[in-house]
Amino acid sequence: MPVLAARALAKTYQSGGAQVRALDGVDLTVERGEFVAIMGPSGCGKSTLLNLLAGFDRPSAGEVWLGEQRIDGLSEADLARLRRRRIGFVFQFFNLLPALSVAENVELPLLLAGQRRRAARRAAIGLLTELGVEERRDASPALLSGGQQQRVALARAMANSPDIVLADEPTGNLDSAAARGVLELLAGARRRGQTLLLVTHDARVAAAADRVVRLRDGRIVADGRLGPARSVPNLVDVGGDE
Ligand code: ADP
Ligand code: MG
Repeated sequence: MPVLAARALAKTYQSGGAQVRALDGVDLTVERGEFVAIMGPSGCGKSTLLNLLAGFDRPSAGEVWLGEQRIDGLSEADLARLRRRRIGFVFQFFNLLPALSVAENVELPLLLAGQRRRAARRAAIGLLTELGVEERRDASPALLSGGQQQRVALARAMANSPDIVLADEPTGNLDSAAARGVLELLAGARRRGQTLLLVTHDARVAAAADRVVRLRDGRIVADGRLGPARSVPNLVDVGGDE
């Protein structure tokens, strides 16, 4: 049973009179518990795809399915409710709330989901510790380095143990020690059966994935599962030249 699917998904942006075709007929099915890496050159539509899958933006054509529910036509309020229950999202540029502390940013989704303050605080500190940013718990996110903000954004996305985690370049600003912490957190999520869809340029992240989907000019040009040994890449090339 797929947890997430795109059908003939397309997105065209209007940009100062010109039209930019950011996504051009993407078909993608993600099964429960899969860890999918999305790769491709800058501008090929990776962030657009992630934003459409999470319902942050509307497709120009095509469909987005969350399990058995088609979501591309839902109201903003319904989309927000679905995301709160089921989707953790890490934005490429973090989008942390500067008026809240680091710990409060991570607690927020838990409080919105009805958890008590003490339990929310405990869970937030646990995640921040796992990611090596616990000592910044009381700081404003604006004072953190890019890599630290990225880890806080990941902690926030994981706080509610969402079924599906969508993350836009979650190791993009990290040194290798911090990237390892992120990868360990993601591996733990995967062991717990969460579905992961990550945009990445990072070969370490791609190597940890079950499947690598390559985009180019708004289209999927390769979609390959890694073999059971997970050492021999078995990319099924469907027309790309990478
Ligand atoms: P990626 O994440 O792979 O770098 P994006 O999805 O951000 O790519 O962008 C895909 C294409 O759409 C690019 O050509 C980008 O310039 C364009 N684009 C993205 N967002 C907008 C927007 N809001 N308005 C106009 N063009 C956009
Ligand atoms: Mg992007």
